[in-house]
Amino acid sequence: MVSNKNMLVLPGDGIGPEVMREVRRVIEWMDRRRAVSFDLTEGKVGGAAIDAHGTPLTDETMADAMAADAVLLGAVGGPKWDDLPFAQKPERGLLRLRKDMDLFANLRPAMCFDALVEASSLKPDLVAGLDIMIVRELTAGVYFGEPRGIETLPNGQRRGINTQSYTTDEIRRVAALSFELARKRNGKLCSVEKANVMESGVLWREEVTKLHGESYGDVELSHMYADNCAMQLVRLPKQFDVIVTDNLFGDMLSDAAAMLTGSLGMLPSASLGAVDETGRRKALYEPVHGSAPDIAGQGSANPLATLLSFAMALRYSFDLPDDADLIEQAVENVLAGGLRTSDIMQEGKARVSTTVMGESLVREMDKLAA
Ligand code: NAD
Repeated sequence: MVSNKNMLVLPGDGIGPEVMREVRRVIEWMDRRRAVSFDLTEGKVGGAAIDAHGTPLTDETMADAMAADAVLLGAVGGPKWDDLPFAQKPERGLLRLRKDMDLFANLRPAMCFDALVEASSLKPDLVAGLDIMIVRELTAGVYFGEPRGIETLPNGQRRGINTQSYTTDEIRRVAALSFELARKRNGKLCSVEKANVMESGVLWREEVTKLHGESYGDVELSHMYADNCAMQLVRLPKQFDVIVTDNLFGDMLSDAAAMLTGSLGMLPSASLGAVDETGRRKALYEPVHGSAPDIAGQGSANPLATLLSFAMALRYSFDLPDDADLIEQAVENVLAGGLRTSDIMQEGKARVSTTVMGESLVREMDKLAA
């Protein structure tokens, strides 16, 4: 029996609990068929925590998150809590998790499953077999830099100010993680900034180049300006393996890359922190989509983004790449077999519920593991 793995599950709001049920199904399967056990703790976050405890994240749940090997989150938010003051909103629970766990790297894969090639807005041959990873720096840059604010000038005009700022350490830690990822993938890293017009971009390029020379000579490094990267992502996306970029550019580029693959219901993500003294890296896994209040409770949500987020946890927190591959292959096969939730429905395919999608996935895993 493989040693137990400690995971905190936070289903959250809206479709969060519905899609998380399907992850539970896969976890039970792993216990049964792969002898991989998880010690699961379940907690509340977002609106569910506000309703139960009057706060979007209790200190106890935060402590559980700090102690866990990985946190798997569904989604937070919904109209019920929209009128609360900013500091008490469901989203604050998620922001606190990211901040207190110091999750500085956001990993957003853009993978195109063959069966969904037609769902992309690009030509099928441009996206077939696409598998790129965008790493966005998540805790520094212009969203956090000081000074910031809105001021009134002596002439009565108002001025809005934000500051793009990066230190050597902030650049090097996200670059090191990206080099490591590239090493485990196809050995290529593209570092993206605007060194032509921004000093922070000049420093970014210098530090990434220096780190490459010091420790990662085996990885093929290239540099690209962010505006060119946006064009290249829609012109020839398969030229990339891993892309690393700052918080602002990463925000835009990861959303653009995500849409190359079609639907929000298919997109996983991981946010990673530093390795601690025990060799463990804090990590939060969650689908890119929100709580989808418009379809919550109808049993029609696509659980695959959350299942693929769990597969990322197997790969990056639990060192179980074969099991992650198995889930991804099962997703590919279930889609190839013609099953679709409403969000990815195509003519001639079979529309299925959240539960049927989860059950079919587990059946497919059974076949693959036979
Ligand atoms: P959303 O991602 O929840 O939904 C956008 C659209 O995509 C909706 O039509 C929804 O039905 C559909 N959709 C999303 N996920 C789907 C899935 N798995 N299967 C099928 N269809 C899916 O974004 P929104 O509508 O802008 O926001 C709704 C709520 O979610 C808001 O309260 C927002 O603040 C919150 N939100 C939370 C997160 C998060 O928890 N990380 C992220 C984004 C939005």
